[in-house]
Amino acid sequence: MFSADIITLFPELFPGPLGASVLGRGMNDGLWSLHATQLRDFATDRHRTVDDTPSGGGAGMVLRPDILAQAIDTVAPPDDLRPRILMSPRGKPLTQARAHELATGPGAVIVCGRFEGVDQRVIEARQLEEVSIGDYVLAGGEVAAMVLLEAVVRLIPGVLGAPDSRDEESFENGLLEYPQYTRPQTFEGRDIPAVLTSGDHGRIAKWRHQQSLELTQARRPDLLK
Ligand code: SAM
Repeated sequence: MFSADIITLFPELFPGPLGASVLGRGMNDGLWSLHATQLRDFATDRHRTVDDTPSGGGAGMVLRPDILAQAIDTVAPPDDLRPRILMSPRGKPLTQARAHELATGPGAVIVCGRFEGVDQRVIEARQLEEVSIGDYVLAGGEVAAMVLLEAVVRLIPGVLGAPDSRDEESFENGLLEYPQYTRPQTFEGRDIPAVLTSGDHGRIAKWRHQQSLELTQARRPDLLK
């Protein structure tokens, strides 16, 4: 079973949206599990301090390496084979391909940064894989961890009702998805494209592929390279 462990200063935020709808049902059905650990539980002073000022000066605070390492080692001892991920705007962008890899693995240990970030030495010492969810900066890693987990967990067999529908989704075959339509036949003067109601599955598939190509060319030409 895919098992996710989150290390965070805000464990009460979890499961949040991950406990709703198909993901929540998948959790209840035992297809995956989630546990959030309070980083402050590993602090060693009575104020439960987990951060300190940046060496070399500058604004903000940095998460201490010794406390974070202790939390990681407790949640995932060295023989735990799950990847150790640090949510980080400096990380490799999250992709559908990486989500698939993670979904077929044993799970993930995910560290949510806060403040200015995390001491570099613990990133190196615990070989944390830095993963970004986009080129912008959030206040903390919790929402980013939820994004990563939502992308991964929906790919776990059994979590989504109809796995077939996944194959044509955006990014699955290097293209963006074609436009979707449903009833009513006419909406504010706009009709459903006639080909989609023709019943000719060959023509429909061809039309959808062409639409996917055109959309990808217009919006994400980088995907076609
Ligand atoms: N000083 C850091 C920098 O400039 O790269 C930003 C720190 S940010 C305020 C605090 C935490 O939010 C990060 O340590 C990270 O865990 C999380 N975070 C922010 N933006 C993120 C993103 N785009 N992807 C993943 N995590 C992000």
